[in-house]
Amino acid sequence: MDFELGEDQILMRDAAREFAEKKLMPIGEKMDEDEAIPPEIFKELSELGYCGMLVPEKYGGLDLDLLSVTCVLEEMARGSAGLELGLSVHNNLCCAAVLDYGSEHLKDKYLERMASGELYGAYCLSEPESGTDAGSLSCFAEEKVDKFVLNGTKSWVTSAGVAGVFIVFARTDKDAGSKGISCFIVEKDTPGLKLGAKERLLGIKPSDTRDVIFKDCEIPKENLIGEKNKGFKIALSLLNAGRIGAAAQGLGIAQAAYEEAYKYAQEREQFDQPIANFQIIQFKLVDMAMKIEAARLMTYSAAWNREKYGEKAAKKCSMAKLFASETANWVANQALQIHGGYGYVKEYPVERYFRDARVTEIGEGTSDAQRMVIYRSLGKK
Ligand SMILES: Cc1cc2nc3c(=O)[nH]c(=O)nc-3n(C[C@H](O)[C@H](O)[C@H](O)COP(=O)(O)OP(=O)(O)OC[C@H]3O[C@@H](n4cnc5c(N)ncnc54)[C@H](O)[C@@H]3O)c2cc1C
Repeated sequence: MDFELGEDQILMRDAAREFAEKKLMPIGEKMDEDEAIPPEIFKELSELGYCGMLVPEKYGGLDLDLLSVTCVLEEMARGSAGLELGLSVHNNLCCAAVLDYGSEHLKDKYLERMASGELYGAYCLSEPESGTDAGSLSCFAEEKVDKFVLNGTKSWVTSAGVAGVFIVFARTDKDAGSKGISCFIVEKDTPGLKLGAKERLLGIKPSDTRDVIFKDCEIPKENLIGEKNKGFKIALSLLNAGRIGAAAQGLGIAQAAYEEAYKYAQEREQFDQPIANFQIIQFKLVDMAMKIEAARLMTYSAAWNREKYGEKAAKKCSMAKLFASETANWVANQALQIHGGYGYVKEYPVERYFRDARVTEIGEGTSDAQRMVIYRSLGKK
């Protein structure tokens, strides 16, 4: 068993770390206040290939393995958790949907433009009335001779306001439950597609989250991804990779919060000495570092297993997501505590990390949902 990252993985990780430190961390507070990612950051991300990490070179992508992508996402989340979420959704869910399940026609039509960043992707599964119970979704795609006509509302769509394409799950059989759902790719300018107002989020504020509303929205038949009525399996399969992206997000937030707390503990003096001299602070820092290390091992292992064993790695993906997101919240809370009152104001970034961490236990399936998935797989070989 080898715990060493490969040379290429280290190169990708270090390049992403440099990008996060030079380009994202200095504007973390501004992005949080503006609730937006500056367009020039999107441009740079695209130019550096981060929009096509899983996409083969023939479509202009970097053709990376999932572990490399995970290392990149972790570093991006350390720089900006809001930006990382969109990047993870774009790569691990949207590009992967076309790549793994799309027809050759759809691959030729979309992958190059997605990998170049021209078409940023958003993933539309959740609805106002169906979240954890995603198989009960009601958005309906009526089949006509040469098209599907889409009606319904998708909620909580990450990157909705900046996306060029939407991966949409809609019902194509009203009586077949989760076996009556299909997957489509829908372009932003399709008549009948409207965006809701931008959500005012607690954390990850640079992320543009909205409803996406379809009203008699006509989609060419060729935009069906995979087979009709087999879309829910696609949704679940993609979510495994999405959960690794969510785990990487938790890891990045936890790492950033830990680093701030460590630094602050050396600088802040009480009782005529740095608070880092107090054993209780030392032990908090030790537990933070240890949990992060465990979360990282689980996340990297899940990525490696998902790459090698596909769906069979579902349990590991859920475990990594659950552990890393709970670690992010725990570590961010400790980091804030180590800052005392200064952790409760915007002067230090831990206040932002604390808010950013919260979503990691909700998006891509709540912690309860992960426990449900994991429980179902216990006892199976
Ligand atoms: C910032 C943000 C971005 C998001 N981005 C996207 C996106 O890009 N695309 C997308 O499709 N969705 C997205 N989501 C939606 C997210 O996936 C859902 O919020 C999540 O799946 C939970 O669904 P819900 O909010 O409807 O909660 P509900 O399903 O209503 O759950 C409410 C509570 O009940 C619990 N619960 C539900 N069922 C059970 C059960 N059987 N047993 C025990 N407890 C249960 C849940 O854990 C939760 O605590 C995003 C959400 C947020 C907040």
